[in-house]
Amino acid sequence: MIKALVWGENIHERENEVVAGVYPDGMHACIAAALNADPGIQAETATLQDPEHGITAERLARTDILLWWGHAAHADVSDVVVQLVADAVYSGMGLILLHSAHFAKIFKHLMGTPCNLTWREAGERERLWVTAPGHPIARGLPPSFVLEREEMYGEPFGVPEALETVFISWFQGGEVFRSGLTYRRGAGNVFYFRPGHETYPTYYDANVRKVLTNAVHWAHNPQRATGDIHAAPNVRVNAAPEKIVARGPRLHKDGEDGFR
Ligand code: ZN
Repeated sequence: MIKALVWGENIHERENEVVAGVYPDGMHACIAAALNADPGIQAETATLQDPEHGITAERLARTDILLWWGHAAHADVSDVVVQLVADAVYSGMGLILLHSAHFAKIFKHLMGTPCNLTWREAGERERLWVTAPGHPIARGLPPSFVLEREEMYGEPFGVPEALETVFISWFQGGEVFRSGLTYRRGAGNVFYFRPGHETYPTYYDANVRKVLTNAVHWAHNPQRATGDIHAAPNVRVNAAPEKIVARGPRLHKDGEDGFR
């Protein structure tokens, strides 16, 4: 059983009546329900309003996959929580970033780039093309599928070149966007998935729900549960596995830790 945690900023749903009408229990609850329809996934939720944003080291330790939706309050997410999530990813937790989470602190932290893009809120048609047929995240999908109303995100998308580009979106207004990108950070699998603007019923769409469910399975690193993943050490090693003849000059003296 894969344990997923769906984190929602949960602001638009409480403050905007259009969004509340679409997602009366919050987007995070809608997404968790989609995941829980899969017998192999057990999903729960956390929000920004929970103590410590609902994210503690203990909770992350029993979370296989964290899904993240944020938009209006990226700056309110504490840096302590961002570091906790980053450390969990390095040690093998999967992370799935949704829609405007392209600007979440954790995504920018893991990417190391501005993660900027162009955008337009005009209820346009979006067609997502599967650009990696046979990829586990695209399992069971048609060659392309349509979301009748979505926000437009356009290139250039300021992220590092992805390991794999699983989807590319075309928008009615003419722009295109790399909508499904995979990364590896430490032992953690990371997936960015573009659709999911708060005023549209995107997370009820059967294909979107399939992508999220597939992505949870794809991002799962079962080695993490075995405790076999060790962070890359940052230590001086004096003994070499092969015979060497040490040559100078040397800066560090014996017995000196030398972190400077
Ligand atoms: Zn949006």
